[in-house]
Amino acid sequence: MIPFLDLQKINERFRAEMDARIGAVLDSGRYLQGEENEKFCKHFAEYCGTKYCLGVANGLEAISLIIRAYGFGNGDEIIVPANTFIASILAISQNGCTPVLVEPDPTTYCIDPGRIEEAITPRTKAILVVHLYGQATPMEKVWEVARWCGLKVIEDAAQAHGAMYRGKRVGNLGDAAAFSFYPGKNLGAMGDAGGITTNDAALYEKVKALANYGSDYKYHHIYKGTNSRLDELQAAVLDVRLAHLDADNARRREIARFYREHITNSLITLPETYDEAAHVWHVFVVRCKERDNLQQYLRRHGIETNIHYPTPPHKQGAYSEWAEQSYPITEEIHREVLSLPISPVLTDEEVREVIHAINTWK
Ligand SMILES: *Cc1c(COP(=O)(O)O)cnc(C)c1O
Repeated sequence: MIPFLDLQKINERFRAEMDARIGAVLDSGRYLQGEENEKFCKHFAEYCGTKYCLGVANGLEAISLIIRAYGFGNGDEIIVPANTFIASILAISQNGCTPVLVEPDPTTYCIDPGRIEEAITPRTKAILVVHLYGQATPMEKVWEVARWCGLKVIEDAAQAHGAMYRGKRVGNLGDAAAFSFYPGKNLGAMGDAGGITTNDAALYEKVKALANYGSDYKYHHIYKGTNSRLDELQAAVLDVRLAHLDADNARRREIARFYREHITNSLITLPETYDEAAHVWHVFVVRCKERDNLQQYLRRHGIETNIHYPTPPHKQGAYSEWAEQSYPITEEIHREVLSLPISPVLTDEEVREVIHAINTWK
């Protein structure tokens, strides 16, 4: 059986280091807002090339806190790709803002920059780009429209730790960025965790206070904040993993190149990339008209796959108000996509097995 993702095997590689760091947290008696948090946030900001990083409870909260800190609400509109994971959209709704869905570019799966302008109204406040599947959104046009219309650019970088656009890391491509460190992400914790990166000092101070009961210093509350913090254990685990992120992403890239070179079944459409060296392949998504058949066939051959995602947000019960809206590109993507196993611990042998199974289908 080739699992879609073997988290135990991924973390086992760093067993000794993790045990030591977790033990040190245990011994310190300090489980929140301590040294590990400070260390990891400093390292992650350096990695992304930003001035600031704030650790928060999870990826959804990271997006939501940014939107709140900018003061958006009351029906303000935020542009977001229609094919994203629903968390990006929930973060907008949670703040009383209106998500304005825009179709993706079917070659990058990121928002189609050419469709942003027509979605802008006098109520538009921000563009939330999502670096989906591990590839950075092509930002040039996004920056241009945002500058022209005075909009904030927020990144949902939950699937793209380490990805780059023109030599700059995601997390440093907009006004503020949200990361998830959910265990299955390229940089994953051992539970829920998230982060916010930015170069904007005022935004950093505000999200930091909002995430800590609206407090700027102890028992002094300037906002009706929330509790959304990164704990010491997760920060320690993430700091260990961060040191290996580039190597892990390089291995993902190698596997992706192997798949792209050797999968030759004409019924399968392979993913494209506009910059081979900059993609971090959070998932390796192929397209197939008979997706469900292919998935069952692979399962019979001991290969576990996944679908990112089976149902688009506008067809979910949570957004029944959008049930009649139509986003044909998004809907076609959701009908056809299938994610093959990819991870830094997948062996060459397993990769060959997946390729062989796919090439002998039909
Ligand atoms: C995982 C993910 C999130 C949410 O992160 P959590 O840590 O699970 O809250 C948001 N956006 C995208 C694109 C994601 O993949």
